[in-house]
Amino acid sequence: MDIKIADFISSSPNISSCPQIKLAEFAFIGRSNVGKSSLINMLTNRKNLAKVSQTPGKTRLINHFKINDAWYLVDLPGYGFARLSKVEKAKLEKLIYSYFEKRRNLEHTFLLIDSRIEPQTNDITFMTWLALHHIDFTILFTKSDKLSKARLAKNLHNWHHILVEFNPNPPRIIPTSIVTHIGKEGILQTIDAFQKSTPRT
Ligand code: GDP
Repeated sequence: MDIKIADFISSSPNISSCPQIKLAEFAFIGRSNVGKSSLINMLTNRKNLAKVSQTPGKTRLINHFKINDAWYLVDLPGYGFARLSKVEKAKLEKLIYSYFEKRRNLEHTFLLIDSRIEPQTNDITFMTWLALHHIDFTILFTKSDKLSKARLAKNLHNWHHILVEFNPNPPRIIPTSIVTHIGKEGILQTIDAFQKSTPRT
């Protein structure tokens, strides 16, 4: 699959204001600065499609993009903002968690992890929650061009070790890079496979 059409549809502050749609959704989520906007731009062959999510004050919105008139890409708010107050963090967490609980047409989630950084508690907490709630996800190991092959393999191994502890069938990890475009094909193929296995109209 190649992404030919990518239309920005809406930025929503809560679930009730998200577009009511029947097409399947594929969500992208990760800690702030993980490379989510860059990755969405790479996937959609656009320079600035995901820029809206980077605007200060807009980082806590749920962004919907309609892709090829066939499915929706959902840019979920980043978690782990160091600068947010406790109350704001709790509000954001509630928004993210309830999205996963309530959004019926959410087909699959891509959880972005910076391939250079040691496993962080909030990433592990979030993954454990997804696994406990039987929410299917794939891990995208971002900025992989910044590591040597050996280092990347070591970090992949470390994560695999953590993942099998709470899930005997650990999620797949796809290394990605906006520099080499590695991972682009794998992500689009994953979406394609889900689309074919559960077609919606
Ligand atoms: P977001 O906050 O998750 O949306 O992160 P951004 O997409 O804004 O990326 C944060 C920074 O990481 C920016 O300076 C990007 O240019 C850089 N970045 C993102 N992805 C990659 C990548 O695959 N390789 C490299 N070398 N830099 C990246």
